[in-house]
Amino acid sequence: MTVNPTDRDRQVWQEEFEDFVPERVFDAHIHLYNRSCLLPGTRFPATSVWQRFGGTFTKQQLLEWTAAWLPGRELSVNQFGYPFFDSDRDASGVYAGDVADNRRFFGMALVAPRDSVESVRQRVVSNRLIGYKPYLEFVEGRPKAEITIHDMLPAEQMELADELGLAIMLHIPRPGRLADPVNQMQMVELCQRYPNTRIIFAHIGRAYYLSSVTGFLDGIAACPNAYIDTAMVNHEGVLEYTFRTFPRDRMLFGSDAPIACLRGKSVEVNDQYVYLMGEDYAIGNAMYAPENAVAFTSFTYEQLRGIRLAAQRAGLSRAEIADFFFGNADSLFSAVAQRNYGGSA
Ligand SMILES: [Zn+2]
Repeated sequence: MTVNPTDRDRQVWQEEFEDFVPERVFDAHIHLYNRSCLLPGTRFPATSVWQRFGGTFTKQQLLEWTAAWLPGRELSVNQFGYPFFDSDRDASGVYAGDVADNRRFFGMALVAPRDSVESVRQRVVSNRLIGYKPYLEFVEGRPKAEITIHDMLPAEQMELADELGLAIMLHIPRPGRLADPVNQMQMVELCQRYPNTRIIFAHIGRAYYLSSVTGFLDGIAACPNAYIDTAMVNHEGVLEYTFRTFPRDRMLFGSDAPIACLRGKSVEVNDQYVYLMGEDYAIGNAMYAPENAVAFTSFTYEQLRGIRLAAQRAGLSRAEIADFFFGNADSLFSAVAQRNYGGSA
């Protein structure tokens, strides 16, 4: 149940990435789950991406995929569950903890606003996890478009995160994403109120096209505990802008596997974006190209292409590239593990 690289994919690796991707890669944004992580009776629609690999994406499946697509690279990972309403958050925490060794594999707990602070403490500490992954889907009682960052992360949960110095992987809400004024304010408030936390704004604040990022990174760039990951961003202009304006030592490589394992590419269209899909799976703004008009490679490779071009244009040194792919994330997550668990499981 993997996506096998074609000869053309292997050629792309050889020609474009073999000399670019460092020996050690830390993927800061991966979803891992087995059947135990889902509530009993969970069924995926046929076009759900979570169905793509047989309804699971385990450590073993990830390692197989990586061996095929990032050959010869030593992978480190920050992983968390499947962030949907029908996931069992306690079981997902146990699974993330089973996978984590706090040396190369780190794990985060899924948290919902209704989870008591004691249950969250238990979920994190007993599984030796290094942070939280909240999600929009876990917020109840508000129209989706009106959900705020503070709704996703209530004060008591943030106080606990601050006490433990945890990392938080935040997929920001609201249709305006990074450019939304409420988000702009609350992103900075979150960083400032909880200075011992490390807040990772996933997908560069979900900015997948140029006008959604330009001018909107300055607030969080000024917060020393704010990080971004580049998961699912393959737009070289967005990546170049981020390399130029956001502190490079707080940028993390992330793929968003298993989504990134699919064939497709994110494309800017008229100040919006769309996922052009080479496989018929529904991931947000997706358009499936069934006629095989073009031969797709994986989202992961499109991300690497964007990163490579952006790094060239922004003039990153080899050392900065190595830190982006590995060192920044390794330092961040190792420090949280060290502080709470003495560094190893
Ligand atoms: Zn994700």
